[in-house]
Amino acid sequence: MRYISTRGGIQPISFKNAVMMGLATDGGLLLPESYPQISRQQLDGWRKLTYPQLAFEIISRFVDDIPGEALKSLIDRSYASFSHPEVTPVVHQNGIHILELFHGVTLAFKDVALQFLGNLFEYILAERNERLNIVGATSGDTGSAAIHGVRGKQGINIFILHPLGKTSPVQALQMTTVTDANVHNIAVRGTFDDCQDMVKALFGDLDFKEKYSLGAVNSINWARVLAQVVYYFYAWLQVTAEGEKPVYFSVPTGNFGDIFAGYVAKRMGLPIEKLLLASNENNILTRFVNQGDYSLAGVVSTVSPSMDIQVASNFERYLYHLYKEDSSRVRAAFGELREKGRITFSTEEMKQVRRDFCSASVDQLQTLETIGSFYRETGYLLDPHTAVGVRSALDQLPADAVRICLATAHPAKFGEAVEKAIGAPAPVPDSVAQLSGLPTRCEVMDAELEKVKEFVVANIR
Ligand SMILES: *Cc1c(COP(=O)(O)O)cnc(C)c1O
Repeated sequence: MRYISTRGGIQPISFKNAVMMGLATDGGLLLPESYPQISRQQLDGWRKLTYPQLAFEIISRFVDDIPGEALKSLIDRSYASFSHPEVTPVVHQNGIHILELFHGVTLAFKDVALQFLGNLFEYILAERNERLNIVGATSGDTGSAAIHGVRGKQGINIFILHPLGKTSPVQALQMTTVTDANVHNIAVRGTFDDCQDMVKALFGDLDFKEKYSLGAVNSINWARVLAQVVYYFYAWLQVTAEGEKPVYFSVPTGNFGDIFAGYVAKRMGLPIEKLLLASNENNILTRFVNQGDYSLAGVVSTVSPSMDIQVASNFERYLYHLYKEDSSRVRAAFGELREKGRITFSTEEMKQVRRDFCSASVDQLQTLETIGSFYRETGYLLDPHTAVGVRSALDQLPADAVRICLATAHPAKFGEAVEKAIGAPAPVPDSVAQLSGLPTRCEVMDAELEKVKEFVVANIR
């Protein structure tokens, strides 16, 4: 299996090179040249597999440059860190299925991909006798999951910038209590945007990037999407054991990474009726699906902060397919976005979009209401991101269909919002309670690029 860029500017590359490249060198995103097809018979043969076994079946179809046994061991190690034996169990509540993706170490779905990516990086670096210095900015979830994905790993240092005092307390502790020698937390006196700008500037300094082997872990890495394809198959196999009904997935969406993984599963032949794209007030993608209106607006802060995004980086991968794999169209579309702040679509294209997706936007009031009413009716607590997906599913999807909602975070991770919704503190799991007693390590600094650079250089082992 070889990988190409959505912008058409690179020669096809291997899986391992795609993982190490992250963002394509022509500025596009990497995609496999084709999607392996899974027959119905094959699918039914997978019903008894454990999560890691299923992950191997799916991932190995995209990887032909890592020996089977090594890949298997990498996958097994990645999912052994999950606290639930099923890794991503499905529970049934109030007529919907909830796919719990939060049983990893940082209690959000990003662990599913970043545990795998951490092991993958370590494997490839050892083989090539290379080192990697990961630098990233986070508003909370990605940074903590990335740190836990690479802590203690050979050949890797990680530097994560977060805005001092602006992440949730649990998110901050999940980062700063990791005191492994290869992990460096930087708390910036500033905003998330300050952090993001400095990281962009570091990567923009090509000499610096080259000299210090800088790498990224944001959701544009193909390996992250690939790891997430697995749980769509896993959930589908769980809920279709008896009888056949149309299956919908509701996906709380920010960067379009998670829902694109669902689209890949569909392209591989998994019988998904439609993917429901659930957004908060930052609803550019909902306007796109429902009105064909892909135009930029300002970012609004909400109770589901991991979805407070305007420009969804992974959307480019879908555009490439919508444009029937014509990379010149992708380049033109991003030119239009740069010049006019919008991309326009033909009637035919919008018809295709609505065959793949439906969409709803849920505001903060509705989000908190949904956490409250769901809790009163079932005793089950939703985190605010999951609540956006659940509310969308209840409002938009036929009640007689199979509705699977992706639960992207544990409610304890966003305790403040949950407390507001139910009028009582959210229960705190032991893994979170234990954090407050642990030693922490974190460098606090002003939002000055030179200071950050100096710190990175001084701490590369
Ligand atoms: C990152 C995140 C999302 C959004 O996922 P995307 O892949 O960016 O669409 C939703 N919920 C939670 C809890 C997250 O951490």
